[in-house]
Amino acid sequence: MPSNRPSSLAITASLLVHDIDYLVTMDAERRVLRDAWLHIEDGFIHSIGEGRPPETIPASVPRLSGRGRIILPGLINTHHHFYQNMARAYTPGNNLPLLPWLAAMNRLWQNFGEDDLALCTELGLAELMLSGATTVADHHYVFPRGAHNMIDAQFAAASKMGVRFHASRGSMNVRSDLIADWALQEEAEILEDTERLIETRHDAASGSFRQIIVAPCAATSCSESLLKASSELARKHCTGLHTHCGETEAENTFSLEKFGRRPLDYLLNCGWDYDRTWLAHGIHFNNTELEQLAEHGIGVGHCPNANMRLGSGICRVPELLEYGIKVGIGVDGSASNDSGHILAELRQALYLARVRYGAEAMSVLDAFELGTWRAAEMMGRTDLGRLARGYCGDLAAFPTEDLYANGAENPVDALLICHPRQVADLVVGGRVLVEQGSIRDLDLAALQIRHAERSREIQNNLAG
Ligand SMILES: [Zn+2]
Repeated sequence: MPSNRPSSLAITASLLVHDIDYLVTMDAERRVLRDAWLHIEDGFIHSIGEGRPPETIPASVPRLSGRGRIILPGLINTHHHFYQNMARAYTPGNNLPLLPWLAAMNRLWQNFGEDDLALCTELGLAELMLSGATTVADHHYVFPRGAHNMIDAQFAAASKMGVRFHASRGSMNVRSDLIADWALQEEAEILEDTERLIETRHDAASGSFRQIIVAPCAATSCSESLLKASSELARKHCTGLHTHCGETEAENTFSLEKFGRRPLDYLLNCGWDYDRTWLAHGIHFNNTELEQLAEHGIGVGHCPNANMRLGSGICRVPELLEYGIKVGIGVDGSASNDSGHILAELRQALYLARVRYGAEAMSVLDAFELGTWRAAEMMGRTDLGRLARGYCGDLAAFPTEDLYANGAENPVDALLICHPRQVADLVVGGRVLVEQGSIRDLDLAALQIRHAERSREIQNNLAG
């Protein structure tokens, strides 16, 4: 059981959720409780049960009804690029594979600043929250000249929205046809800023709301020296370590030609044999590499929508799990998905596994694992991903009544087998952030207008 030591940065509360129609615990026995209750005390789950809640729970504890609800642990997104939500469905890249798609989009970001990233983060978090996410990792690696406080702007936005935010502090320091000078930073500047963020923002305590992950963009856009130093920095501070790897076959070819090694071998040679590492995509690994991932405790962030959208391939998730590799779901960037709906992402993971391995390869509960305790485990969070005593009081309550699941015999399976829906309520650390389908204290319509206006400026290259 995780420690109940409260995080110094946590903003938490107590709450009793009662009369829950279906409580999907994702505990070791995969119990689904009926007519259940769940008591959160100071941000952590104190107790759960079926029937009437104990009368010993003080009347002063706020109540939330679970009638007409299917409650899951708050979902966890392990890989995203919020900045891209200003370039989604961007015509020049809509029918291209990874590298030409990146090239089509890259010219847009030259004047992208901290305020823009804050706006993208708020909008991206709203999408994720309304689809069930309570913990989010974003990977930001574009720091146009002068925009030094990007990650600080993201934390301010995440703090306003109330979710647990893991900032993957990205980096690029190698010039290429794809990356212009204005997008590059010097290695010393990258490392200094990353360490500053770790020292000022990173909270490793149970119940943490803020973490930093050391996250070079890719082996192709970062020097060997930076990759090595990034691993050393992550190890020094016991943070996560993250990058893209195994996304396309072209990456294997490029890596062999340029470095004389396949991409994973190259990373391992740079000191990435570290059990807090996870790699986005992990499609094009051979069996020897799967053994290496398992041996070193390296995880894979599975992003099925982006992989299908860009025609990159199918991650061998059922086989990865058989090898004992950690796997978590990721929606990936908002210009290769092009939405941030975490429940829809789990549906795609379920169906993509079935395309390759057959209908019995993955069940709905197997898919839920990728968005709950498996994602938490991969991100080094032993306090998230299950509804059980001692875990964080984070939950997503989906309505049982939904047009697209009307008349469903199995309401829990219907969450993925039927068309994905939005949450009714969302709770993080005992605080109700979404109530009756609306994010509290947020004018979503006004946010959408501001974001759409700025997106048009960016897309038309008018951003000043
Ligand atoms: Zn990505």
